[in-house]
Amino acid sequence: MSELLQRTDRLWSGEASTTQAEYHPFSGPRLLEELAPGIAFFKAFVNVTAVKTAEGLVLVDTGSFHPAAHKLSFDAVRHWNGERVHTAVYTHGHVDHAYGLPPFLAEARERRWQPPRIVGHANVLPRMQRYVRTAGYNSIINTRQFGFETQWPVEFQAPTEVYADALEFSLGGTRFQLHHAKGETDDHTWVFLPETKTLCTGDLFIWAAPNAGNPQKVQRYAVEWAAALRNMAALRPELLLPGHGLPIAGAARVQAALLDTAAYLESLVEQTLERLNAGATLYEILEEVRPPPALEAKPYLRPVYDEPEFIVRNLWRCFGGWHSGVPSELKPAPRRALARELAALAGGIERLLERGRALLAAGDARLAAHLVDWAADAEPASREVHAARAAVYRALKEGAASTMSRGIYGAAARESETKAQ
Ligand SMILES: [Zn+2]
Repeated sequence: MSELLQRTDRLWSGEASTTQAEYHPFSGPRLLEELAPGIAFFKAFVNVTAVKTAEGLVLVDTGSFHPAAHKLSFDAVRHWNGERVHTAVYTHGHVDHAYGLPPFLAEARERRWQPPRIVGHANVLPRMQRYVRTAGYNSIINTRQFGFETQWPVEFQAPTEVYADALEFSLGGTRFQLHHAKGETDDHTWVFLPETKTLCTGDLFIWAAPNAGNPQKVQRYAVEWAAALRNMAALRPELLLPGHGLPIAGAARVQAALLDTAAYLESLVEQTLERLNAGATLYEILEEVRPPPALEAKPYLRPVYDEPEFIVRNLWRCFGGWHSGVPSELKPAPRRALARELAALAGGIERLLERGRALLAAGDARLAAHLVDWAADAEPASREVHAARAAVYRALKEGAASTMSRGIYGAAARESETKAQ
């Protein structure tokens, strides 16, 4: 039996969890397996699906931008099959999915093959162009999000063929049905192969609470995302190949994964809208909205990458403006002026630090973080302040389950550890 599907079984039964490093959707084995006749799935940080047809291979996603990463996916595919890549489909323009073609293109040049046709949604190219304009920012936030140095790529292979809503093509007797949906991005494609009832979801399913809230990135679309998951489920897929994480086999499991994820998003949307329409502020909504516990407990909906709290913030931004509803935040005083005012009221920076340490010791690192940030805003050069701040953010990082929180808290801890020396 497939090693990957055995791992899926362990997650499904509760014997393993995505909260374990080895089962986190972005880690785990780098392994290619043929999961249906002619359909190979490469599981790594990001997944690649390769489909063998009588006219050559079709890739769904291409691997990551980093040369070491896309060499891995290239080698895995080539170990399985040596035929020409006829078509590559980008599920979306993220750099871990749509920037892995260079070794396939080099191979095509060497072997004098026609280069692959590249198919993607019409919004992929504008995204790639935006990434060139924001390469500095994206290098910074990706380094922060994942905790290792990233140099954002500025070279890309644009789609050679784009579509708007849906596109179907047939290659060597295999049909590929491409559907556009907004969700994690505005340029997503999910792919259905009707003969084998195989579904490639892109990042619309990733074995984690949906990445619909990412704190450092552009707008995500939870409403359309949920609808897309229901559209996928209506086709009764029997094999789900996600953008990250393990494959899911069997119609019943695939239905559960898709429909539970849709219901999870819909619940957050409804709860947020109800409060938004009743005049609640952003902070009131953040305090009250929670995913249904039965759904949050599903093995594929744990908040190990993004978090529901961040999804609510993105819904606030999607339905409204950026104003939080707290009037002093419309045109806030400079952080340093506010911080010095609070320090003076408290009786000095030391009092802020003291209280921060006490809150940390009492287990409320989240509240302590405000105090140490004010202390750092008031006295940015103080080693003592940064030592206290580092301890708070180290604790927040250790206590966080999601990649996003661990990344941002970890970066703050490292920053203050450096400044405390
Ligand atoms: Zn991804």
